[in-house]
Amino acid sequence: MTKTSDMTYHRRARRIVESVLGKPLSTKHPIHHLDGNHKNNSKNNLVICENRTYHVLLDMRTQAFLVCGKANWRKCVFCKQYDALKNLSVTPTSTYHKSCNNNYYHNVRKVTGSLAKM
Ligand SMILES: [Zn+2]
Ligand SMILES: [Zn+2]
Repeated sequence: MTKTSDMTYHRRARRIVESVLGKPLSTKHPIHHLDGNHKNNSKNNLVICENRTYHVLLDMRTQAFLVCGKANWRKCVFCKQYDALKNLSVTPTSTYHKSCNNNYYHNVRKVTGSLAKM
C-alpha cells in the first residue's frame, strides 16, 4: 500500500466520523480502527482517540491482539515474541525478556572480544 492511499483511507475515516458527530473533528484526535484494518471504515470499527499517545497505545494493543490474541502482551525487542508483562522488563523505550537482553549483550561482548584479538 502506498502512503497516498493510506492517507486517503484515513481522510475517509475522518469524514465518516465527522458525519456521525455532525461537526468537524480536530486533527488532535486521531481515529483508530478497532480491527487494525484501515480500509474497514464501518462506523463500529472507528474510535476517536483522546490524543496521539492514546492512539499509539491502542495500536500496540490491537497489534498484540492480532498476533497473539492477548491485547495486554508486549513484544520483546530482541526475540520479537509476544509475552505477558510479568515475564518482561519494561523501560520507557523498550520491552524485553531479561534473558534475551542478557544474551544480546553477551553476544555483543563476544563480537567486540574477537575484534580486539584481530
Ligand atoms: Zn490505530
Ligand atoms: Zn525475548
